[in-house]
Amino acid sequence: TTHKETLQFQTEINQLLHLMIHSLYSNKEIFLRELISNASDACDKLRFEALADPSLMAGDSELNVKVDFDAENGTLSIRDNGIGMNRDEVIANIGTIAKSGTKEFFERLSGDQSKDAKLIGQFGVGFYSAFIVADRVTLNTRRAGMEAEHGVRWESDGTGAYTLETVDLPERGTEIVLHLREEERSDFLNAWRLRSIINKYSDHVPLPILMRKTGDDQQPGDTWETINKASALWQRAKSEISDAEYKEFYQYVSHDYGEPLAWAHNRVEGRLEYTSLLYIPGKAPFDLWEPNQTHGIKLYVQRVFIMDDTEHQILPRYLRFVRGVIDSSDLPLNVSREILQGNRVIDQMRSGSVKRVLGLLEDMAVNEPEKYQNFWNEFGRALKEGPGEDFANREQIARLLRFASTHSDNETQNVSLTDYIGRMPEGQDKIYYITADTFIAAKNSPQLELLRKKGIEVLLLSDRVDEWLTSHLQEFEGKSLASVAKGTLDLGSIETEEERKSQEEIEKTAEGLVERIKNALGDRVEAVRVSHRLTSSPACIVLGERDMALYMQQLLKQAGH
Ligand code: ADP
Ligand code: MG
Repeated sequence: TTHKETLQFQTEINQLLHLMIHSLYSNKEIFLRELISNASDACDKLRFEALADPSLMAGDSELNVKVDFDAENGTLSIRDNGIGMNRDEVIANIGTIAKSGTKEFFERLSGDQSKDAKLIGQFGVGFYSAFIVADRVTLNTRRAGMEAEHGVRWESDGTGAYTLETVDLPERGTEIVLHLREEERSDFLNAWRLRSIINKYSDHVPLPILMRKTGDDQQPGDTWETINKASALWQRAKSEISDAEYKEFYQYVSHDYGEPLAWAHNRVEGRLEYTSLLYIPGKAPFDLWEPNQTHGIKLYVQRVFIMDDTEHQILPRYLRFVRGVIDSSDLPLNVSREILQGNRVIDQMRSGSVKRVLGLLEDMAVNEPEKYQNFWNEFGRALKEGPGEDFANREQIARLLRFASTHSDNETQNVSLTDYIGRMPEGQDKIYYITADTFIAAKNSPQLELLRKKGIEVLLLSDRVDEWLTSHLQEFEGKSLASVAKGTLDLGSIETEEERKSQEEIEKTAEGLVERIKNALGDRVEAVRVSHRLTSSPACIVLGERDMALYMQQLLKQAGH
């Protein structure tokens, strides 16, 4: 071995460790779920890399996780024969938190232990949960493909620093040894207890988790047995899977320890064969609005994990909240990211899966409107990206959209375009909307005065994505969408002949005034018009038909454009 080096943790990690040690004492057992989840990820990564380079498996291709303990020494270990890490990777993955979500993680902590414990897996800080029960953690790891002498030992007592040394490790993969705190030993150095934790949290990890078989003397012996189901749940018949199992599997694939809102499990047979199990989560993950996602649909080929669809090849970006697996029988096992690009099989699985998800949402909207409202509140803004991204399904997505409107003047987005059309009075042929940077600004806009007086409903749009949405969704069921803040307000036949006549008269008498205002404002405006939009305000600014919304212009100006 070489000399030992001592390195400091990032400040954020110290904060995190403090939290683990002092705030999660009623949910201690989750550390095992997190370490097993990491071990399983490491095996998935090795399987993927080995597709291109089979020598990485080096005669040991039965990937698994072994959980073991030593009551005498007070240690508990979790070992996998997955990808392992080299020295640089240990420093990057265990010594620093490069992920952008850490700050938000701290902000989201509620002080409610069970809620906070649920956040850990989602935010990618699971490794540190080891310190909930251990006062010292040793990690031995050797990257697949490297020689025995390139093993790395990392060790820390969780207070500010860690040590690193190069060691000889005969086996590939990672072993994590927890030196349990005195007071945790009686609880966790117990085969029955460990088995029940694994069954509770990790039963559906599709990889064998092994423990030593108890011998006749009631002591752990030398043979190992699989203690989780370790089967590909999605390959079983629907009728044999209970709701509880579906929910447990959801937690495994989503890293969300809450409940899913709904799921769809389908086997497609015929020219193309694949199985999909797709979930709509109950809560949005922290990184839903970040450019790079760490989770997505998991792609399997004949039960072999290939990769997470973080680049939206299998499901489009606007459906990035969906979790689950798609298992194909048609793709080659040595599929790579490049092969997936423009692949016919992927394209067909993609369009089939999009239809499943939209169908699932439509069912929910019709049959369980309250649940759908929950969905909308969490993920509606992502779905609003749909019409711009998925032209083929524009109409179906549009049916799923919900908005705030002047009908209730309430901020809750619960009005569908179908509701709106159903309330349109005789003669109205457009769907009117207004965009603004806040709901209050939209609701109080003077541009709405006339329409309010006439009792015409207007959609109040104030999400950032709404400008994008309205530029891609120009009509719904034959009715065009029209901004009341842009161009001339054409009310079509909602206006009576009389109203039109009196407008024309007013316009005539005001010609001189309009001219004077136009001269005074000069180039700063494109036109000055007599408006019939207003009933109590004297004047308002209106955008040209093709202009960007005012708040968008302001945003761009602030950004230096
Ligand atoms: P996450 O799993 O969400 O990335 P963790 O804190 O659980 O966050 O783990 C941090 C990182 O440490 C992992 O992304 C991985 O790179 C590395 N890691 C942890 N455990 C293992 C392991 N058993 N084998 C290989 N790498 C691991
Ligand atoms: Mg993890």
